[in-house]
Amino acid sequence: MQHKAPSSPQGFVVQPRRLPKAAADLRVQDFGEIIVKPTKANVETQAGRCTDCGVPFCQNACPLQNNIPDWLGLSAEDEMREAWRIASATSTMPEICGRICPQDRLCEGSCTLNQSGWEAVTIGSVEAFIGDTAFDNGWVEPIRPLHERGQSVAIIGAGPAGLAAADRLREQGYAVTVYDRHDRPGGLLIYGIPGFKLEKRVVQRRIDRLIDGGVTFVSNCNVGVDVTLDELRERHDAVLLAMGVYQARGLSVPGGGPGDTVAALDYLIHQNRRDLEDPEQADWHHARGRRVVVVGGGDTAMDCVRTAIRQGAESVVCLYRRDRENMPGSAREVTNAEEEGVRFEWLGAPKALLSQKGEITAVRAARMALSEPVFGQRREIVPVPGGDFDLPADLVIEALGFEPEAFADHHPDLALTDWNTVKVARSGFATSLPGVFAAGDAVRGASLVVWAVRDGQDAAAEIDRFLRSQSQEAAA
Ligand SMILES: Cc1cc2nc3c(=O)[nH]c(=O)nc-3n(C[C@H](O)[C@H](O)[C@H](O)COP(=O)(O)OP(=O)(O)OC[C@H]3O[C@@H](n4cnc5c(N)ncnc54)[C@H](O)[C@@H]3O)c2cc1C
Ligand code: SF4
Repeated sequence: MQHKAPSSPQGFVVQPRRLPKAAADLRVQDFGEIIVKPTKANVETQAGRCTDCGVPFCQNACPLQNNIPDWLGLSAEDEMREAWRIASATSTMPEICGRICPQDRLCEGSCTLNQSGWEAVTIGSVEAFIGDTAFDNGWVEPIRPLHERGQSVAIIGAGPAGLAAADRLREQGYAVTVYDRHDRPGGLLIYGIPGFKLEKRVVQRRIDRLIDGGVTFVSNCNVGVDVTLDELRERHDAVLLAMGVYQARGLSVPGGGPGDTVAALDYLIHQNRRDLEDPEQADWHHARGRRVVVVGGGDTAMDCVRTAIRQGAESVVCLYRRDRENMPGSAREVTNAEEEGVRFEWLGAPKALLSQKGEITAVRAARMALSEPVFGQRREIVPVPGGDFDLPADLVIEALGFEPEAFADHHPDLALTDWNTVKVARSGFATSLPGVFAAGDAVRGASLVVWAVRDGQDAAAEIDRFLRSQSQEAAA
């Protein structure tokens, strides 16, 4: 809805929100980012919409507590270098969070303009612009520690938690080695999140900066197989576990056999590898010309349906057992998917996979209904008698969420929570193993990039304190 521009109480003309988003029919033609780089004029106008309301709800809703009103004000005045200085003080990757945070649930969801009937300032887009401008102008400082501390840290996992910790620890002068079982650093930033949300070059320039600053990356190293946790504890003065959560929940319905369905992350990895121009492999999944059903209602499911659309699927349906209001995925992503041609089958639970001559032909689903609301409880879903229906399909993608892998296998004394995530001290990141810390999804369960960044930064500060006390003890 378009607002007529009225005057704010301060007398300023309030401009409407304008997010520079590519039109759906154009953006589905490739895997480029759908939020395109705003013009300087757009940034100045949008940043200038901030009313500097005095109570920075946006800042409080940001997991990094970013000083949003200050860098908005500076951007509105074209003081971009100073805006960058402030934005980068609290975040090791502003240009990445600005692109992929679910802002509608975080900073922008709390913007005062929303509360007063206006649409929020485009905080994420401005933040990404500040970061991109800093890279383009060479303002992103290289990591050059004042002195080398002579102590080393192993980080297991090169996702956002590991990268954020590596950044901060290297700045403090520690020798940092990041071990990852993938062939490239980046974790889900590279191999999970599709290019239409976050282009790979944006992640790569962050990794390049770390390499240039002296961080060592050891790829294709599966800790627990190629090297043990105890061996890393021997080699390094501290260890950070930042391995994320990767055990995919699977469908448990009759019909179909091994290989008949595709795990969401495998599907996304194959497309991400194409974007990275890896040589095409025969076993990579592709949706071209196929009728695709994606089962699940989270952000991973949204990434799969939108990838299938871009690959040229004949039809794409998202099957989710609850209704729109109760789905875990971000409302913004559902809107994007609908604009791009995805059909949502709400209140439908998979019941069986149907095949002919060994090929999947359809997903049989039960029609569900929500139980009556009970205060303080999530509404149950119950099948509607006689409501079964079939969705024609020749590619079924399972996007039912992730659980931790068997972290306990790394060490018998590594304590876990009831949810099998790594257990850390109540106020911090220390695990039950001396000198071993943990951060990101491995601790929280499947979460968000911005929380992984926050954890990585804070864990680095705790590791720094731990190592300083170790060296003081050694000196005493
Ligand atoms: C498809 C998808 C889309 C998403 N989209 C968004 C989004 O738009 N916005 C958002 O905020 N969040 C999103 N998320 C969530 C976000 O990506 C994660 O919360 C975040 O990446 C967690 O960071 P991390 O560093 O803890 O773990 P990860 O990014 O998972 O990185 C962990 C790393 O550890 C490595 N590793 C694991 N085990 C071992 C081992 N034994 N030895 C060596 N290396 C190991 C892995 O290879 C990986 O590189 C998405 C998640 C998925 C799956
Ligand atoms: S980090 Fe995320 S929540 Fe914080 S200001 Fe940036 S986009 Fe908003």
